[in-house]
Amino acid sequence: MATLKAVRGTRDLLPPETELWNRIETTARAVFARYNFGEIQTPIFEDTTLFARSVGEETDIVSKEMFTWEDRARAQSEKTQSLTLRPENTAGVVRAYIEHGLGESGQLQKLYYIGPQFRRERPQKGRYRQFWQIGAEVIGPPSAGSESPLRDAEVLEMLATLLDELGIKGWALELNSVGSAADRAKYNDILRAALIPVVGQICQDCQRRAVTNPLRVLDCKVPEDQPIIETLPKIGDSLGEDSKEHFAAVTAALDSAGVTYKLNQRLVRGLDYYTRTTFEFTHGGLGAQNALLGGGRYDGLSEAIGGPKAPGIGFAIGLDRLVLTIQAQNLAQKAAPTQVVDAYIAPLGESLNAVALVLARELRQAGLRVELGDGSFRLKKSFEAANKIARRIVILGEDEHRSGILTVKDFATGAQVKVPRGELVEFLKG
Ligand code: AMP
Repeated sequence: MATLKAVRGTRDLLPPETELWNRIETTARAVFARYNFGEIQTPIFEDTTLFARSVGEETDIVSKEMFTWEDRARAQSEKTQSLTLRPENTAGVVRAYIEHGLGESGQLQKLYYIGPQFRRERPQKGRYRQFWQIGAEVIGPPSAGSESPLRDAEVLEMLATLLDELGIKGWALELNSVGSAADRAKYNDILRAALIPVVGQICQDCQRRAVTNPLRVLDCKVPEDQPIIETLPKIGDSLGEDSKEHFAAVTAALDSAGVTYKLNQRLVRGLDYYTRTTFEFTHGGLGAQNALLGGGRYDGLSEAIGGPKAPGIGFAIGLDRLVLTIQAQNLAQKAAPTQVVDAYIAPLGESLNAVALVLARELRQAGLRVELGDGSFRLKKSFEAANKIARRIVILGEDEHRSGILTVKDFATGAQVKVPRGELVEFLKG
């Protein structure tokens, strides 16, 4: 029988790598708490319509990449429904915001999430079909200040702080404004017109985008298309006064907070719901998939999916890419050692297995990291097993059991000593 493997684009996360994943999550939770964000968890699948209406029908995500299926009715009272594994989490959060009337409090909602997302993309380094995002949203009624450029600046400053606290060196923030919905529509028309004379010279994908969604042409990575794209009109020239002022206030606040950024007028991002500020943090070490995270404002999203007016701004960090970046850095600096076991308990004889389990429980309750051997092992095998993973071996033979004085060997120093059971925890912690 053919052996079964993880599905293309998915992978298992194994220890010790998962330690790093957990450390990143812990740091993110701590930073979010300091900025007064609370955690939200939304379902991993949603009604397909949610993504079509929010992310946009013409985007790559919705048109090509979603894992969608017709879910059969189980009872007469149920309807067959089209469901989709979430390709991103902002739509789910805004749906929940509307469903639970979170705007009714009149307060700004600051919500973060951590979880897997699913897109049928061509797998490569840093790009998977199941990947993880750490994201956050600041959303609320305009009266709560949700449209304020200060919110944008605060979110960006928080991201800079998070990347710094994770020890990520050399990140860059790219920033743009795509304007209001009206500015975008105006720019779309200008761009569509400007594309007509050059459409024969650009790639197949762009030829399609030039008709369906001209903004997407700016995302094109095909090298031959770049000189043509560079000559196209810039979105900055289509921004209304309001959008310009908003963006100027965002950059001024960033300047005073000392957060450095680079303006990039081609940063329109792959999702339709963005308005005004859009941004990406990139890292040179990631290769082709160099975006660590992306986000922006989505002032009309709530209304687009049937909710009240609720401007907002959010981002999603690619957790897989954070891990890759930190791993590459650690390698460069000689990897930090993974956590070692404090003590390996070696019972000498199967009759001592149960006693060894009790001892292990005591040590673990005292906060030590403990591995438990087996009485069927010969002493040599116990030593070999312990030496690979633990700082010390604790030998538990009949003598030790009777006298209550254990034999402990330290692998680093080679010293072997007798330690009374009552002093063992303190000794092992030393
Ligand atoms: P997006 O939701 O497309 O704005 O993506 C936000 C971030 O999620 C990106 O900057 C990446 O870091 C990460 N990301 C998006 N798609 C993938 C993928 N297929 N595999 C791994 N990370 C991804």
